[in-house]
Amino acid sequence: MKLFTIFGNPVTHSKSPRMYNICFKKYNLNDYCYTRTLLEDGEKIIDVFKKLKISGASVTVPHKEWAYRLVDEVRGIAKEIKAVNCLVMENGKIIGYNTDAEGFVESIKEFNYENVLIIGAGGTAKALSFMFKNADILNRSEKRLRDFKNHKTFTWGNFEIKNYDLIINTTSAGLNDDNLPAPKEILENLFKNAKYAVDVIYHETPFQKLAKKYNLKIKDGSDMLVYQGVLQFEKFVDFEINKKEVANLMKSVILS
Ligand code: NDP
Repeated sequence: MKLFTIFGNPVTHSKSPRMYNICFKKYNLNDYCYTRTLLEDGEKIIDVFKKLKISGASVTVPHKEWAYRLVDEVRGIAKEIKAVNCLVMENGKIIGYNTDAEGFVESIKEFNYENVLIIGAGGTAKALSFMFKNADILNRSEKRLRDFKNHKTFTWGNFEIKNYDLIINTTSAGLNDDNLPAPKEILENLFKNAKYAVDVIYHETPFQKLAKKYNLKIKDGSDMLVYQGVLQFEKFVDFEINKKEVANLMKSVILS
């Protein structure tokens, strides 16, 4: 039996077990099983991984930084992002990857854009800023903006509006409330000239609803969830996968 899991807190709501298990089944990996692991103390992530003899794991909020610090080796863009969302046991060593940012880019690959504005300055914004090197960052408050040394950064108070084609909401505004990620007037001015409004939250938010009024093409975070998952699945199995097929299977779970 090969065991896979998702580490998070909370984790009961996670659709990941169904997303991965349906794909294992499709590829006749009948001895592969993906579960959920509620982990309260991120510092224990590697101990638990080893104790349960896990072959691969997804890591979600709030443990990505602990995973980054504790793995035997960090590979790829995770080194820059300094956060790991995927752990794989390879020849006795635990390797850490980050598939969030690449998953996001894959989810908007059909979009045609030049100027990008990222709203928010938390972990997700940081990951995306490595894929969108020229993006400007707009955040509610100053403190987190210090992490974006290579970007032009603004708070709501000093924001100089210019034309952005793609506006990305990485904040948690709208996740469990009716908040917009920035004042309505700012968003309305941005939407007048933008083409796309993309959210990392999986359901429709006030941000997306407002963007719809301005006829922007909108996207929620479910495709990002799917594509970061496809990239993880590829690392969990050691053969070439049909990415489109895996994405469609994962989508069927998310939509059900
Ligand atoms: P963080 O806690 O690291 O950052 C939160 C950010 O949101 C901060 O910039 C904060 O601003 C801002 N913020 C919070 N509330 C508000 C508000 N009411 N108005 C304006 N700004 C606000 O969060 P993460 O980056 O870890 O996660 C952000 C979102 O991304 C979550 O909703 C999460 O579910 C989603 N996510 C989706 C993924 C997917 O696959 N689709 C993958 C990963 C995350 P300030 O600095 O002022 O506090």
